[in-house]
Amino acid sequence: MSAIVAIVAIMAIHISRRTFLEVAAAGTIGVANARIPNRDARTANRDDPAPQPSAAGWYDQPMRWVQLTLVENDPGTFDPDFWLDYFRRLHADAATLSAGGIVAYYPTEVPLHHRSAWLGNTDPFGTLLAGCRKMNMRVVARTDPHAVRDEVRAAHPDWIAVNADGTPRRHWANPELWVSCALGPYNFEFMDQVHREIETKYRVDGIFSNRWAPQGGDCYCVHCQENFKAATGFSLPRTTDRRDPARHAYVAWRKARLTELWKKWDATVRSVNPDASFIPNGPPDMKTAGELAAIQFTDNQARRGVTPPWNNGRRAKELRSVMGRRPIGGIFSVGLEEPYRWKDSVQSEPEIRLWVAEGTANGMRPWVTKFSGVLYDKRWLPMVERIYDWHYAHERYLRNEAPLARVGLLYSEQTQAEHSGVAQGDRFEDHMLGMYHALVESRIPFELVHEAYLTPDRLDRFKLLVLADAAALSDAQCASIRDYVTRGGSVAATFASSLYDELGRQRKDFGLADVFGVSFNGRIDGPMQNSYLSLDADAATGERHPVLEGLDETPRIINGVFRVDVKPTKDFPSPVTLIPTYPDLPMEDVYPRVPHTTSRELYLRDLGRSRVAYIPWDIDRTFWDVMAVDHLRLLRNTLTWTANEPPVAAVEGPGIIDVTVWRQKDSMTVHLVNLTNPMMMKGPLREVISVGPQRVRITLPESVAVRKVQLLTAGTVPRTDLSNRTLILTVPSVEVHEVIAIDF
Ligand SMILES: [Zn+2]
Repeated sequence: MSAIVAIVAIMAIHISRRTFLEVAAAGTIGVANARIPNRDARTANRDDPAPQPSAAGWYDQPMRWVQLTLVENDPGTFDPDFWLDYFRRLHADAATLSAGGIVAYYPTEVPLHHRSAWLGNTDPFGTLLAGCRKMNMRVVARTDPHAVRDEVRAAHPDWIAVNADGTPRRHWANPELWVSCALGPYNFEFMDQVHREIETKYRVDGIFSNRWAPQGGDCYCVHCQENFKAATGFSLPRTTDRRDPARHAYVAWRKARLTELWKKWDATVRSVNPDASFIPNGPPDMKTAGELAAIQFTDNQARRGVTPPWNNGRRAKELRSVMGRRPIGGIFSVGLEEPYRWKDSVQSEPEIRLWVAEGTANGMRPWVTKFSGVLYDKRWLPMVERIYDWHYAHERYLRNEAPLARVGLLYSEQTQAEHSGVAQGDRFEDHMLGMYHALVESRIPFELVHEAYLTPDRLDRFKLLVLADAAALSDAQCASIRDYVTRGGSVAATFASSLYDELGRQRKDFGLADVFGVSFNGRIDGPMQNSYLSLDADAATGERHPVLEGLDETPRIINGVFRVDVKPTKDFPSPVTLIPTYPDLPMEDVYPRVPHTTSRELYLRDLGRSRVAYIPWDIDRTFWDVMAVDHLRLLRNTLTWTANEPPVAAVEGPGIIDVTVWRQKDSMTVHLVNLTNPMMMKGPLREVISVGPQRVRITLPESVAVRKVQLLTAGTVPRTDLSNRTLILTVPSVEVHEVIAIDF
């Protein structure tokens, strides 16, 4: 099967509004309604999103999802009418309901498919489904294939996952159960039969599988051994060392096997109901989701440990970087999601509201999930109802045709997988987190750009592409970024960006050496103690560079912890130079041995329309580590200088606010999510702390006439000033989430 045909067989692809249909291609494979995206170069302008496929059929319709995951003793005890009534009050358009897998909640005929011991003659899945259908809701059946009972192990010992020591794998949380092998006949044959039965009996709109990938570590069962050997020639790896060729092959094989499973289940579901599809909870990787999925969900239910609330928005951005306009749902729970797994717990209302607001502002549709049909603590019910009421009232402003952010942050899964950092203590993830936090604190609307899709139609919507230690880049990816700069795009890069190839092998020089204007000098310093940066005026003019704004009162600030030693290959200004490490003890010795050098620690190129900034040290990683305000200022100024255009939305006022900007069908929306809270870095929030006033300056799209401006949460019409394409207004106060809606 050719790649295109394979994709169409998986999903009925629809296209964005300005692209053309190519119905003929659909006819050749007999999939009704299948359409192929045909990219038209004319669509690639700044107001139109990249012409990515969006979902045909029903997937884009539901705005609000609910999920009820039954527990085995629910049948006969829980009250389906209570739940159906609650779904109605939530204005939910779609539901995901427990059907089968570990426990069947319907009278299954598939041998070894365990019916709930409390099922009797009832069909709770069918009852809930019928109730939802009466309310015109879409219904997706939930299955969970990751565990089985002992009777399954007895009948098919080869269906069970095997540990490295050869023992069958018991379930870590419930030792009465066994963990199934995700990549063998249990999923490929048995669960395929289950999915066929559910689709045949109920004609559901889709089947969603939880924990469908390997659980509890690698599997060493007879099937995995044989299949891996046949596919790669290797025996299963016994080490997690990513340099081991067998480990490398295993990671690729596992991904391929899961993709094959996804396609198989999808084909089964579709063979019964062409309008339905299989939806995995978590794709094998993001690129595969971009290629196969009509709809996806982020299973990022709540905060745990030290996590900023923007992490929910980040997951939305990650998924949208491959899904584009296609719908994504944000699964959230109402309980605590800490490692101790209190699945029946209830979280504080401010915490739930902020978490969902971050998802909504970043383009996810809310999807509340609840375990157990019998409730103990019911405090969450009115909380979620209030969130969904707000969403229902304003849904026409939440369909999000296209983000209008002009800054893209490169999202590199391959750097995450292949690059282990330059030294102990250097993690790629920390560079990303630091940059993400700095962008949020700087109130710069931004998107994530996935490394697999660096095409002009995706890249050219952005004026600035940020590489936060995007270390592992292929030659082709470097070429795409180089071409982007040639077309007028700007780049801001940090640390080891492009110093490694896509397999994590170090290059002799940066892949983007010509773009940065510097070459690798063969050495990476760090961790450094007690090093500083000298802030220098221009030798000729005596003026300080704009990137030093707000740092006027000091000749120097702290340095980072790691630095790449580079030599310039072009002429550069010299606003920031190195003050090398000097002793930090004993106190008598703490004085700089070399008070000033000519070694630049910031390289700024002005190419006219495009600008390039390269920061050879770990400003983003150190910012995540230390959160120094001076680093934030320098980074924000550098990004602003490099972007070299007015922001799409500038928001001035107290607090920390995540700003996102969207184009709607006949309107534009600016979301302000208030993250200001003493519990910002570690939940749960105790209370909502409003911040304001916020003075907002919005750059409107070209050739639109403003009909009306309103604040959706406050329910007020603010006073506005409009001149040319700039709209200025003041938002008096932001509680959790305010949306400025501008009708055209
Ligand atoms: Zn296995």
